[in-house]
Order: sequence, then structure tokens, then C-alpha cells
Amino acid sequence: MSRSVRVRFAPSPTGKLHVGNVRAALWNWLFARKSGGEFMLRIDDTDQVRSTKEFEAGIHHDLEWLGLNHDLTASQSSRFGVYDEVADQLRSAGLLYACYETAEELDRKRKLQRARSLPPVYDRAGLGYSEEEIKAFKAEGRKPHWRFKLSQTPVKWHDLIRGETVVDTASVSDPVLIRADGQYLYTLPSCIDDLDFDISHVIRGEDHVTNTAVQIEVFQALAKMRKGAVPPEFAHHSLLIGADGEGLSKRLGSLSIEAMRDDGLEPQAITSLLAKLGTADPVTAQNQLRPLIEGFDFSKMGRAPARFDNEELITLNGKLLHEKPYAEIASRVEPLGGNEDLWLAIRANINRVSDVKTWIDIVSGEIKPLIEDGEFTQQAAQCVPEGALNAESWGVFVADVKEKTGAKGKHLFMPLRKALTGLSHGPEMGPIFALIGRDKAIARLQGQVS
Ligand code: GLU
Repeated sequence: MSRSVRVRFAPSPTGKLHVGNVRAALWNWLFARKSGGEFMLRIDDTDQVRSTKEFEAGIHHDLEWLGLNHDLTASQSSRFGVYDEVADQLRSAGLLYACYETAEELDRKRKLQRARSLPPVYDRAGLGYSEEEIKAFKAEGRKPHWRFKLSQTPVKWHDLIRGETVVDTASVSDPVLIRADGQYLYTLPSCIDDLDFDISHVIRGEDHVTNTAVQIEVFQALAKMRKGAVPPEFAHHSLLIGADGEGLSKRLGSLSIEAMRDDGLEPQAITSLLAKLGTADPVTAQNQLRPLIEGFDFSKMGRAPARFDNEELITLNGKLLHEKPYAEIASRVEPLGGNEDLWLAIRANINRVSDVKTWIDIVSGEIKPLIEDGEFTQQAAQCVPEGALNAESWGVFVADVKEKTGAKGKHLFMPLRKALTGLSHGPEMGPIFALIGRDKAIARLQGQVS
């Protein structure tokens, strides 16, 4: 029987979620939903100094806003007892060993290795201390940090995106699992949790590939100690780069989900883009997650870095709005002072919901008309139909202006648009004209601020 799917998104609450890590969250979520499996939100808060409750609340809020609901959640900070037990077992098995070097000493070792053209791999001095040396370190008040003893052999796995992957752990330093101050680094708790929560697949960025080789060795050690524990399969996706081809890390502040929400972007624009960036599929505006779930497929994921372009996101956002029925947006348009007629009149011309306000101001507030040929617009003012303006009024009005002035095409429409809205671009004028209303239309054509 094949294993049921359970994946996890495992952010550290030491910062805000951004497009890079949300892409990993989304892909995990899409895979879980497509496979009828479960999506776990795991809070990797072993770093008790940098982790905050505010960042954690932000992660929950962002995922909820994006529609990426989770089926189970856990925090690493509540599991230190479990990690301590496993660490003891690893010590007894001779796989976790104490090292006493300071950061400066390690740095010096690496420099020496480089000077001799050797790879800067830890020399395993910690495995060879004499009892006297250990006593001396302790007498100095040094506390050990703890390293995992790698096999120093090639570790192979079938990566669901990269295919056959091999990393020789002989070229990797034995990883520090526990720091001298007792803090667990990410490597060990993550493996313990993946086993304990029966995670079937780990989907994450390719910056973790070397780490995966290390973790596979940790998994192998743990699986021997934890009966029935089955390590996950792996899929490493390519990373995002900016439109300029540079890495995203420097701009992550402005690429946070919170910043995008504040900028008025729709969650569906973000999910539509991130689901497809770096895959063989085209990016299209999807108002629902369902089609993204159906289209999810590891075999479509490319190995090349994927370009994230904020402009593309804004364009997608516009496309989503252009088709949004009023019922879905009323609760956001009405507080701005808008209504259904206004929404239907302008939705094809806005990129953000906040642009609604601009158009409310144009149709019901005061604008300064843009007039180049006063005689023409004065004549037009006399053509505004009698009574309340409606859907047909614009056609009647324009035909009349055309007849009276002889103006045609652009020379007919542009001066009318500029006088009536104060802008040279915007939505189709028919509905806008009706929303502006007769009195304002006449006043504006006559050049009055109105
Ligand atoms: N907390 C880890 C990170 O943010 C999780 C990586 C993983 O998915 O295993 O890098």
C-alpha cells in the first residue's frame, strides 16, 4: 500500500513570510490537496532568541489570507524533551560527539586549510581529544557543541524534481546539531519531527540539497532507534530570482506577503503566479485554488531559477479584478463609497481595489477639467441630454456633439474624456458619464472645477 501523503511547511518565526518561502508553502499545500493528503504547519522556533510570537501570528495570518489552510500544526519549542532524549541516544551510539573549539579557532582552521588548497571540512578533532584535554577545556569554562558524525560516503536519493541526486558527505563538515549554549540547530529537530509526524514528502528549495544528504544520514540513524519510522521522500525546487536576474534576498522586505497585502494585491494573484513560476505551465489568473491543485505536477517543475517580477504580479492582479463579480468584492468596495454600477464601470481599468477610490473621486468628487479647446467643449456642454443620464445617454450625447462640431474619432472622444474626467485615459466613458451625472458633466464641459 502506498504511503498517505503528509507534507509540512516549516518556517522559522524570525521574520515575515515572503514570496520565496510562500512558494514552498504553496507547493506543499497543492501537493497535499492534490493527493488527498495533509498539510502541516510546523513552527521551527528552536531559536528562542530570534523567534517571536508576532512573527508566528503573522505566518498564520498570511497563510490564512492566501487560503493555505493546515490540517495540523506543532511548534518545535514544545518538543525539546523529545530532542534531548534522541540526542542522548545518538551520543550513546557514538554519532553525536562533543567539540570544544571556539568560533575563532574554527575560523583559523578553515583559513589554514584554504591556504593549503584543502576543502574547509571540519577535521574531526573532537573525536580525538584526550581526557586531559577535555578536563582542560572544562577548567577554562568551555562548554561543548555537538556534531553529528557523517558516514563520509556518497548519499543518493531520487529527488522528485531533480531526479537522481548524489552528495558525498566526505566533502561536508560534520554538522553541529547542538550549540554550546544548548540551542538545537534546525537539522536534528527537523528530522525527528518529520519522523514523529510521519511526513511523507519534504518539498523545499534547492538551497537545502547538501543539507538533505546530511539529514538522510540523520534519518538513517534515527530510523534504527525509532521502530517503524520511515524517512520522507524529497523534492527540491529551484529558487526565485528578481526580474534583474539577481537573488531576492536583499529585497525580501518589500516582497513580504504583508507588504503585498498592504499594497492592495489579491491573494489569488500571488497564488496564481507562485504556483506556476518555474514550471512548464503558463501563468494565468486563477480566482480559485482548485485549478492550481489540479495542475500541480512535479514533472512540470524546471531546474532553472525562476524569475519573480513584481510587474507581472500587478498585471495578474488587474486581470483578476477585471473579472471579479460584484458580490465577491462588495464588502471592500462599499466602505470606499462605491457601488455595483461603479464597479462594473471601472473594473476593467484598475490594477488594485484601492484604485476604486480614485474613480469615486472622479465621478462624485471635484476635478479640474482638462480643456484644450474651450469652444469645442462649450458646444459639447449644450449637447448633454436632458433628464437623468443613463446607459444610453453617452451614445446620444456623442452623436449630437459630432453633428454640431463635425469632430470625429480621437478629436471627438479625447477632449470629452479630458474635460469630463481630467484624465486622458480610463474606463469606457458610457457608464462613467452616467455616474458623473448631468449637472457635473455640464459644469466640467464648461471648464468649471466640479
Ligand atoms: N525552518 C527551515 C527553513 O526555513 C525549514 C526547511 C525545511 O523545509 O526543512 O529553512
